[in-house]
Amino acid sequence: HAKHLGGNSFQFFTEQLPGYSLERLQLENQLRKALDEDQLIVYYQPKLHLASDRIQGAEALVRWQHPEQGLLLPGAFIDIAEETGMIVALGDAVLTKACLQASEWYHRGPAPICVAVNLSVQQLRQSNFAARVQQILDHSQLPASLLEFELTESMLLEHVDAVAENIAQLQQMGIRLAIDDFGTGYSSLAYLKRFPISTLKIDRAFIGELEEQVPQSERSQDAAIIRAIIAMAHSLDLIVVAEGVEHDGQLEFLKEHLCDEVQGYLISRPVSAADFTALLTESTEV
Ligand code: C2E
Ligand code: MG
Ligand code: MG
Ligand code: MG
Repeated sequence: HAKHLGGNSFQFFTEQLPGYSLERLQLENQLRKALDEDQLIVYYQPKLHLASDRIQGAEALVRWQHPEQGLLLPGAFIDIAEETGMIVALGDAVLTKACLQASEWYHRGPAPICVAVNLSVQQLRQSNFAARVQQILDHSQLPASLLEFELTESMLLEHVDAVAENIAQLQQMGIRLAIDDFGTGYSSLAYLKRFPISTLKIDRAFIGELEEQVPQSERSQDAAIIRAIIAMAHSLDLIVVAEGVEHDGQLEFLKEHLCDEVQGYLISRPVSAADFTALLTESTEV
């Protein structure tokens, strides 16, 4: 791209398309290189199963080990990946790494962990996606039951045949499906009946409001929403996970109202695979 950057035409170009700044073009090129050079890594954040007080799951979260800028969070590059279509290759890389890691925990310990991987709708639109997932499971020797995909509400409202077909195939393969950031998207609940969902993850916006600083009136509204989501989920035989749990008070509330699992900084921040293994060793020894 560098040869295009001289003269007034570039000025014009940046004014017409805000967001297409020099930094953005550089980041885009660097991300392409990062995919080639394997600079993406996967962090894992535990999900604590409340009834057993054990870590049975983890969410895989992409990180970019940037050669100059250090470890970058998805907020710095996921949008660019989505806009350029690189999200498909990125998602494939994350899935491959997460399955190999989950397989290692399963075959070599310390404990089997169900790993949840976030998907982009662009992956689900690929007609060969489910077949590709099967290939990765075979290659990594991971039982499908130890893989979960996190989808967002808007993905299930896409009327694209490939998306619905992939979702049905993934479920038939024995992979679990979760709705991420539940409650923030479209409030149509019809898709809960139409799709084979196993888990709802309550968005952390509702959990955060349980904090002490928030006025009692708002807090009790969020508490009511959480109780309603848990009741609805359980009556539909779904598992409920609360995201963004940071304080003891939130944990106590969720325990009292029989939320199944919790995820958040109170349990642990997302950590490297090695640190997760250590955390798991610690928690299974108790
Ligand atoms: P998400 O799937 O909703 O993931 C949860 C995010 O909340 C993570 O941010 C996690 O670090 C953060 N989080 C967890 N516990 C707490 C807490 O107690 N307090 C607060 N304030 N935050 C908490 P992260 O890792 O920066 O990821 C952001 C988003 O990027 C994810 O949101 C997901 O939508 C996307 N993402 C991450 N990895 C991938 C990936 O491999 N593929 C795709 N397509 N998207 C990904
Ligand atoms: Mg997620
Ligand atoms: Mg989420
Ligand atoms: Mg999110």
